[in-house]
Amino acid sequence: MDIHDGKLVKFWTDIWHPIGRLIEIVGDRGRLKLGITTSACIADVLVENEWRFRRTRDTTVQNMIVKVQELGVVLETNVQDEVLWKRKDDEYGREFSAAATWEQIRCKRPVVVWSKLIWFAQGVPRYAFITWLAVKDRLSTGSKMPAWGQVQCCVFCGEPDETRNHLFFACPYSYTLWLQVIGTLLRPPPSPDWNDIVARIMARSVRSLQSILLRLAFQVSIYYLWKERNERRHGQPAKPVAQSAKFIEKTIRQRIMSTKYYEKQKLKGLMQCWFSARQP
Ligand SMILES: [Zn+2]
Repeated sequence: MDIHDGKLVKFWTDIWHPIGRLIEIVGDRGRLKLGITTSACIADVLVENEWRFRRTRDTTVQNMIVKVQELGVVLETNVQDEVLWKRKDDEYGREFSAAATWEQIRCKRPVVVWSKLIWFAQGVPRYAFITWLAVKDRLSTGSKMPAWGQVQCCVFCGEPDETRNHLFFACPYSYTLWLQVIGTLLRPPPSPDWNDIVARIMARSVRSLQSILLRLAFQVSIYYLWKERNERRHGQPAKPVAQSAKFIEKTIRQRIMSTKYYEKQKLKGLMQCWFSARQP
C-alpha cells in the first residue's frame, strides 16, 4: 500500500484524473503485458521515482504509460502505509461509511419521474415495495398468467382480464375503496384510470400535506388491495369495501401518528388535513 498526499493509491483500480481507472483502459490483457499484479501499489511500479513497465508493442498500453508518466507522481517517503476507505471519487477516510460505500459500488441511473411517489420520508418500505412493483407492472396479475398456462379472473368482480390497471383502480371494488380512502384529497375525484391517478398525484407539490397523504393512501391502498386479492384467491372470506377502507384508514392514521407530525413544523396539520378530507 502507498500513501500519496495522504491517500491510498492502488495502481490499477484507483482513479487517475484525467485518465480514469487504468484497469478499464487496458483491461486484464494490458495488465499481463505490463507484468504488474492486480494488487500492485504505486511503490511496486514506481521505484526510486522511475516507472518499471515491461516493454510492449500494444499502442493502447503505450499511450496509457505516456499518460501515467506525465502525471509526475512523487512518492512520499517516511510515511506509514495505511488502509483508507474510498468515500467519493477523490475522497478517502479512515472511518467506514455504509452510505458512501454503497454510492461507490451501486449502478447509477437517471431518477425516474415517479420516484417521489414511491420513496418519501413518511412512506413505509413494505407498502412502497408493493407500489414499486405495481408501478413497474411486475405484480403477478392474472393477465400475466397465460404464460404459465393459467387463467385468472379478477376475484373482486369477475373481469376476465385481471391487469394492473384493472386492479388499480378500474375494478369497481378497488375504485369504490380508493375514493372512500382519499375522501376529498383529490377534487374533482380522479377517474379510475391508473395513469390519470398517478399523474394527478404527481401534479401536486411533493411538500404539501395533501401530497404526503395522497401518496400514503395510494401505497397503503395498493398494498391492502393486493393482500385482499391474494387472500381471496386462497379461499379466505371476502371483506366488503367498507371494512377494507376502515382498515386502510386506520393504518394511515397510525402512520401519521408515528411521524410525530405535531413536533415538526413542516408536518403540523397533517392529521387535521387527513380528517378534514373525510368530513361528510
Ligand atoms: Zn375487478
